[in-house]
Amino acid sequence: MTQDYSQPIISDELGSNSPHAAAERNCFARGVHTPALFEIDGNPIPALVADFGSPLFVFSEHTLRSKARHAREAFRRRYPKTSFAWSFKTNHLQSVCQILRQEGWIAEVVSDFEYEKARYLGFAGPDIVFNGPYKPRAILRRAIDEGALLHIDNWDELSLIEELTRDRREPLDVGIRVWLDAGIRPVWSKFGFALANGEAERAAERIVKNPRLRLHTLHTHIGTYILEPSAYRTATQKLLALRDTIQRKHGHLLDCLDLGGGFPSNSLLHGMAGPAEQVVPPIEAYADAITDVLNRLPEKKRPLLRLETGRHLVDEAGYLLTSVVAVKGIHRQRAENDGLSARDFKEQLIAGEDSKVNYIADAGINLLYTSAWY
Ligand SMILES: *Cc1c(COP(=O)(O)O)cnc(C)c1O
Repeated sequence: MTQDYSQPIISDELGSNSPHAAAERNCFARGVHTPALFEIDGNPIPALVADFGSPLFVFSEHTLRSKARHAREAFRRRYPKTSFAWSFKTNHLQSVCQILRQEGWIAEVVSDFEYEKARYLGFAGPDIVFNGPYKPRAILRRAIDEGALLHIDNWDELSLIEELTRDRREPLDVGIRVWLDAGIRPVWSKFGFALANGEAERAAERIVKNPRLRLHTLHTHIGTYILEPSAYRTATQKLLALRDTIQRKHGHLLDCLDLGGGFPSNSLLHGMAGPAEQVVPPIEAYADAITDVLNRLPEKKRPLLRLETGRHLVDEAGYLLTSVVAVKGIHRQRAENDGLSARDFKEQLIAGEDSKVNYIADAGINLLYTSAWY
């Protein structure tokens, strides 16, 4: 490379403090107050790269544990009967799963691979919640033998489970997945039985009448990165109403309400303007919405509350370290009398069309495909 390194332009046009002004332009950043990062859990970034190379994924055990403890505390303080399951599909790295296991999380899996991984990591069958719209016969058989909690997604799966449990002497605890309108858009209708047209109730009835099965849980997963805590209030009310109906008609009171995941992290999505602290409700707001409804029940009728947390716990704990390996191109010189204000000129540079400077990093979208969301 013969071109001298030229620094990026940081303008102070938008404010008096130039680093903050630059961050304000970036509506994908966490917010204007995110400081430059020099270390992770006390490990200097250059030392991490020197020891392990670049690019490098790094997870902060400290952040992961403190997010987990904070969420646990927020719910248990309001509602002691709360159980947490870790969504393996969100991140199935061994140490991430193990740390959450140490914090009291059980496993939530959606595929045979994830089921096997949870068993390999030491989660016992009864400490695995099995969701997912497709559970092949072989893994269903294993999960049944090992006493995992199957959340039944559809009629075909229910038929298959009826077949696989035909010779059981003890009833098998199962749940059903339910989709419902929680007042937010889009409505996720892809998982489970419909609530509104009575389908979920019919599925529940069929299970309640089967002596080989015992209906343990009503489950819903209403979406992801949900910014409306009130959606969880609605979902809780609707699942409780179904639980009431089942009790009234069949005398069976379900043990557990599982409200899935969907709690947002402080990493802002595409197009959101920060800072995150102002646009993302705190986990306490979600805990209030859910537990307000549950705490209105007489104590004896209160179900176990299960939550399947994913991104809320791990998102801010993870980093991808990359190195700038080349600077290509030259700065465009500003032509005299180009008729542009300083601001318009900079807009063009930032929009990229006229930018002649490119930074080549040693990691791309192949390593962080979710970067398109954030
Ligand atoms: C993905 C998933 C989760 C976790 O979702 P987050 O939005 O990351 O909290 C929980 N439950 C089910 C069934 C899922 O598919």
